[in-house]
Amino acid sequence: MYDLIVVGAGPAGSAAARAAALQGLDTLILEKEHFPRYKPCGGALSSRAASLLDFTLPYEVCERTITGARVHFRDRVLERHKGYNLTTLITRCQFDHLLLQKAKEAGADTKTEKVQAFQEKDEYVSVKTKDGIYRGKFLVIASGCQDSLKNKICGPDKKENMGVCLVAEIKEDDQKIKERLAGTLDIHFGMAEGGYGWIFPHRGYYSVGIGGLSSRLHHPRRAMLQFLKKNGFTEEQKLHGHLIPQGGNKRRTAYGRVLLAGDAAGFVDAFTGEGICYALSSGKIAGQVIGDTPAPEVASAYEKRIGKDFGEELRYALFLSKMMHNYPEIFLRILACREEVLDRYIEIAAAKISYKDFLRWLLPRLPLSLLRTL
Ligand SMILES: Cc1cc2nc3c(=O)[nH]c(=O)nc-3n(C[C@H](O)[C@H](O)[C@H](O)COP(=O)(O)OP(=O)(O)OC[C@H]3O[C@@H](n4cnc5c(N)ncnc54)[C@H](O)[C@@H]3O)c2cc1C
Repeated sequence: MYDLIVVGAGPAGSAAARAAALQGLDTLILEKEHFPRYKPCGGALSSRAASLLDFTLPYEVCERTITGARVHFRDRVLERHKGYNLTTLITRCQFDHLLLQKAKEAGADTKTEKVQAFQEKDEYVSVKTKDGIYRGKFLVIASGCQDSLKNKICGPDKKENMGVCLVAEIKEDDQKIKERLAGTLDIHFGMAEGGYGWIFPHRGYYSVGIGGLSSRLHHPRRAMLQFLKKNGFTEEQKLHGHLIPQGGNKRRTAYGRVLLAGDAAGFVDAFTGEGICYALSSGKIAGQVIGDTPAPEVASAYEKRIGKDFGEELRYALFLSKMMHNYPEIFLRILACREEVLDRYIEIAAAKISYKDFLRWLLPRLPLSLLRTL
């Protein structure tokens, strides 16, 4: 009998396992893939996300420091920089491997097994894999958004609340990457319906991708090929597709002895697609709450902590993304073409300003016609 079983060793699962093991809980992680494993991602770790780690990221993992953003919309290009780090670029296979090592160092056990089902009993949760049955007093489901285990708690995903992304890692000489982007995230609005395209300057490669709402981006592959071509890349790239949940919608994230964390809980910024921050944060909260709360109160304590720590941020991000979807032309002309707006917006990644404060500042500057559409 474990105190806690965690399904999935992405940022949410490893953060949950580390937090629980550090409190002395007997913790098991069940992960279906052998690590290090590939994960489709842009690899942008915001300063806010990095600040949640209780250890320093080694140099090999931090590929580039990002201090600014270049935003394209139609024929306009706007670039703003800050004098400090907004984001660090990492490669997920190394980053996630490191997080898993940190969970193990804290005392968590790991097994490479795919969880097929779970069942909650009065005193524990029974977890079934191909190789056997495990028992844990609590279960954290951190198996991402494409796995169906979470559905027992929150129900199936609605298509309108899901995004779809395509990404390619394109090798390039570091000097050329530096000359093209250096410390800049390159964001292209208007390339993908209900979302955007990105070019991120990693070490030795670009992450190039597009992401948009599943209900609007009907031909993601076509949009991706256009995006590649438009930006001077050949179309013969290995493309990886992945779903991404739209955060900020109401859904159940805990019940009885089972908690959902990270993408499994839908904790992703609906405007930018940032999810690592909320995966780390929710995982950590799950591990802590299980360690320090009486069993019958764990589920409600978890949902309360999530609501307090970042629930409001995700709702404001959703609000912003709805503004963009309802009136893209006007909204993007403001975000992508007005220096003061972009200048403020990028401060969110560094936690210098919250979404709430950004929106409070932005609303009086928006035209009435845009506000009427909300
Ligand atoms: C293309 C793309 C680009 C993105 N770019 C960024 C970005 O630049 N910055 C950012 O902050 N966010 C980004 N995101 C979002 C981010 O990747 C996710 O929010 C984040 O990975 C969520 O972490 P997680 O731990 O919840 O889930 P995951 O990282 O998906 O990890 C889930 C783990 O569970 C395992 N698993 C699944 N099912 C089972 C099972 N049944 N049994 C055992 N193990 C299982 C999987 O193998 C996996 O290792 C991006 C997403 C996509 C799709």
